[in-house]
Amino acid sequence: MTAETDVTRCGFVAILGRPNVGKSTLMNHLLGQKLAITSRKPQTTRYQMMGIETRDNDQIIYVDTPGIHQDEPRALNRQMNREATSALRDVDLVVFVVDRTHWTEADANVLNKLTHLECPVMLVINKVDLMDNPDELLPHIEWLSTQRSFDEIIPLSALRSRNLDRLEECIRSYLPEGPHQFDADELTDRSSRFLAAEIVREKITRQLGDELPYAMAVEIEDFRQEGRTLHINALILVERHGQKKIVIGDKGSRMRKIGQEAREDMEALFDSKVMLHLWVKIRKGWADDERALRSLGYRDS
Ligand code: GDP
Ligand code: MG
Repeated sequence: MTAETDVTRCGFVAILGRPNVGKSTLMNHLLGQKLAITSRKPQTTRYQMMGIETRDNDQIIYVDTPGIHQDEPRALNRQMNREATSALRDVDLVVFVVDRTHWTEADANVLNKLTHLECPVMLVINKVDLMDNPDELLPHIEWLSTQRSFDEIIPLSALRSRNLDRLEECIRSYLPEGPHQFDADELTDRSSRFLAAEIVREKITRQLGDELPYAMAVEIEDFRQEGRTLHINALILVERHGQKKIVIGDKGSRMRKIGQEAREDMEALFDSKVMLHLWVKIRKGWADDERALRSLGYRDS
């Protein structure tokens, strides 16, 4: 080996943007592995989470963030904003994601937070697969580049994995030299228990449509390997009796569906047979209570 090939590079890449533009989908597809949960609901991502990709001498550490919320009436929203903003400390690069030409005040708000950043900022225009009129793209790119000077502007489709190579190549070209922060086989900074809880939360979020209680959380009570089977007990916390009934569904039909879909995702992620038990419990007022949030795994930042 020559000295040159011994140089390792490593960087933290924060993925920022308003809710629902496709940040978590982008991270999953860049990693080629579903780590972060996604859905049409704006509140899906609550926690900051790292997704790590190590290839040869390069390590890219993506930081998926909750979208930055406009109003902060409850402790849970304030916590999500802290998670999103704290991702900006110590990053080497920012990927700012927007949804096609749908520029809103919420996007401007995120852009504002980037004003004083000195690291490179790449603008990703996501969901181009949904664009009826691709001719609108160029004028919009021109307009966006008057808002800030971006180091790259890349239109792509996270969901269809279109043009992701281009983004990855750009990210690599900006990676600073430095030692790797994680082992080559590490995929995330989060524990398996955390990932399991998130999978259950995703299934509930997707199943419940508009009935989704704002204050719903999942706690893993038991997570243990016995022989070839992973036994996982998950507790679903809601605030009211009516919400409990909605989650359970008619004769337990919804719970069964949630459990089945969650188990399938867990088996794929953990590469193991999974026995999953779900329970629903009422715990009043937890989303207003900062201490209860901390005990559920929100970081105090
Ligand atoms: P986040 O809140 O920014 O993390 O957004 P998510 O990753 O949860 O995605 C929000 C919704 O947009 C989900 O329903 C995704 O499937 C969808 N989505 C994300 N990227 C794309 C894309 O490139 N094309 C299309 N058609 N849908 C996308
Ligand atoms: Mg997300």
